[in-house]
Amino acid sequence: MNHPKKERTFVAIKPDGIQRSLIGEIVSRLERVGLKLVAIKMLVANSGQVEEHYSQLDEKIRKYLIKYMTSGPIIAMVWEGAHAVKITRKIVGCTEPLTSDVGTIRGDYVLDSYAMSDEDGRAVRNLIHASGSPEEAEKEISHWFKPEEVIDYRLVQEEILYDVNLDGILE
Ligand code: GDP
Ligand code: MG
Repeated sequence: MNHPKKERTFVAIKPDGIQRSLIGEIVSRLERVGLKLVAIKMLVANSGQVEEHYSQLDEKIRKYLIKYMTSGPIIAMVWEGAHAVKITRKIVGCTEPLTSDVGTIRGDYVLDSYAMSDEDGRAVRNLIHASGSPEEAEKEISHWFKPEEVIDYRLVQEEILYDVNLDGILE
């Protein structure tokens, strides 16, 4: 089994996140917890890509999501680090911005709700997607990225996050 620090999650900044000028803020929140960015690209998704990405959702919501996710560019990313999936979901907050905790991305930067979006016949606008489980992450990473687009490299700060002995700090 891989060390927990090798866990990866798929994150996408949705079209509204880009239009709200929140790219830097979102990347910064994930960076500062200690996660490592191992893949990133901007793209305009097509309906087929979104349909497959959300294939587990019911048809009505999936239709809403195709319209939402193809409306403008998105940013697809892979983040790596200990408990990457759960840590990222904690920082992102729960699906509905109205009830997401204060301090989370969805709680702090959006005011949408199920009631309003359902009434208006559209997807809840919540800025960001993050995988719900390591299995979902694996599928989503291979759906959006070629293997060579995900980069294996070392960040110097990993020694502080994961090294057992913290050797080499004192001179
Ligand atoms: P997530 O993992 O927190 O993004 O939530 P889901 O995987 O359950 O749903 C995917 C996306 O569909 C959400 O992020 C919302 O954009 C949208 N969505 C989910 N549930 C609803 C709903 O009940 N009503 C509407 N209008 N949109 C929804
Ligand atoms: Mg989901």
